[in-house]
Formats: sequence, C-alpha cells, structure tokens
Amino acid sequence: MTKPRRSLPLLAPEKLVRLERALEEVRTRCDAEARRRVDPVGFVHGYRGPLQQELAALVAASCAFGNVTTIRGKLHEFGARTGDDLVAASEDLPALRHKLLGFRHRLYQGDDLANLVHGAHIIQRRHGSLGAAFASRRPESGLAEALASFVDELRDAAAFPASGERRGPAHLLPDPRGGSASKRLLLFLRWMIRPADGVDLGLWPVAPSVLVMPVDVHVHKLARNLGLTRAASPSWRVAEEITAVFRRFDEADPVKYDFALCHLGMASGCRSRFEAAVCTPCEIREVCRHGARKLRQGSTERAVRAKVPPRT
Ligand code: SF4
Repeated sequence: MTKPRRSLPLLAPEKLVRLERALEEVRTRCDAEARRRVDPVGFVHGYRGPLQQELAALVAASCAFGNVTTIRGKLHEFGARTGDDLVAASEDLPALRHKLLGFRHRLYQGDDLANLVHGAHIIQRRHGSLGAAFASRRPESGLAEALASFVDELRDAAAFPASGERRGPAHLLPDPRGGSASKRLLLFLRWMIRPADGVDLGLWPVAPSVLVMPVDVHVHKLARNLGLTRAASPSWRVAEEITAVFRRFDEADPVKYDFALCHLGMASGCRSRFEAAVCTPCEIREVCRHGARKLRQGSTERAVRAKVPPRT
C-alpha cells in the first residue's frame, strides 16, 4: 500500500463543507471590479483584442512581483512608452528597445521586456496566437510539461541566453521543470484560460480544469492557515496540493477562488497568528486554524463562566 505523503493535508469531510462555504462567501463578497483596478490584470483590460491582450497579459504577469502599487506604476509606464497597439510595437525590435530605454522594474531592464514581447509576437505569427501555441502542447496531458515546452519556445524566440550574468531574463521566464511555484506563469494562464468574468479573460482554447493555483505569499499563507498545506514555502508541488483540494469543490474550474483569496490575503493584513484587530473581521476566521481555535476557546470560556456563579 502506498503511504500518504507527510505534507498532504487530511481534511475531514465536515471541514471541507465549511471550507467550501467560506470560500464561496469570500468569492461572492469580493468586489471584483474594485479589486481589478488595483490588480495587474487591470492593465490587460486596457487593451482591445485577444492578440493585444495576450501580449499585455504576458508583460503584466511577468512584472507581477513585489509591491502592487509599484507594479501598477511600472505597467502604466510600459503602456505609455509602447502605446495602445502593442502588437504593432512588438514587430520592430530596435524601435521597441528604444521606447523602453531606461525602463527598470526590479531585475528587469527595458531590453528584457522588449525581447520578451518581440519573441511572443514571433510565436503569434508562427501559430496564430500564444493561445494556439500553448493549446498545441496538449496541457490536458500534463500542465507542467506543456508550460515548460511553451516557455522553451518563448525563450528561444526572445533570444534569451540559456544562462548569463544577469538574472533578469531567467527570472522573466522560469522553468516549471525546476519545481518552482512558477506563480507568474500560472497567473498568466489563469487570466488567459479561466472564463471571462470581469477579471479573467477566457481567451485561450484550453479547459480551465487543467489549471493549477498561482501560489504567491498571500495565498500560501492563507492556505497554511486553512490547513490546505503544511509546506513552509511555495513550490509547484504545493500549488498542486492546494489545487487538489479546490478541485474537490469544482473539478471544471479549480482555481476560481484564487483572485478573491489573493485579495483577501492582501487586504486582511494576516499575520498567521491570532490578533483580535486583524482576525475578528476576517472572512475566513471560522475555518482558519488560528481564528477557529480562538473562537473555540471563547465559547469554552463562556460556557465555564455560565456554570460558575459570579463571586459576591
Ligand atoms: S483569522 Fe486571522 S490568522 Fe486566520 S486567516 Fe484570518 S487574519 Fe489570518
């Protein structure tokens, strides 16, 4: 008999029911339009047409690390420099590099993004769209390998060096075969593949059931608090572990809670321990191990107080 993995969370059926109910409430209450305005995906919605939007999404997802206000500012700067027609801008690499001269975002320089967008446009011309290029890898037979093969083609088209002195190009397109969480690539896939709902765009001919959760620090923290993983840091395996739980709620659309959960994590100021001011208004406190423990303690204390007559 195969032993279960040590880190695999064993959630009781009753806990799963409460968890699904809580997540549905988080999703229903999330003001998606307001949150979209402060999310990198808002940048993608500023473009018209699927070819423009998939290029914009690749840029936005690639830049989606660090402070969200900085990310939005950098995307705004990128859009102002490159103009409304990103497809046309991506055709002329020297001109695109010139437009992005002096652009910086964390590890990236303007040239890195110019090469990325130009390479992506080469793939659009070769396959008709990035979506067609990705779908041709049959992600339903294995997402990690399909994504890795897509990244190989993109890295090649962008003429990124296999290794080099600067970390920018390697960080732009990580290799999912290496076991990293590949959060930005999975975020890009979520935007492109999940049905259009005002946040995600549903542009690619791929079933959302293949998707794996993009696990950033916020989602990882909440996932630990909810008992979905015990792992200390995100990885591809952890992302699959978390997705496996969500798949039990909706096999056809397992990453539908990602946007609401990520924004709950950003807005809550969760410290992964009980702090009354933060946890009392938290929407998932009843299913969070820290919040639920405190709720149980509170009800025990109230029960004890009810049985012991007050001192006179
Ligand atoms: S109840 Fe508190 S510790 Fe638990 S997820 Fe919410 S904010 Fe974090």
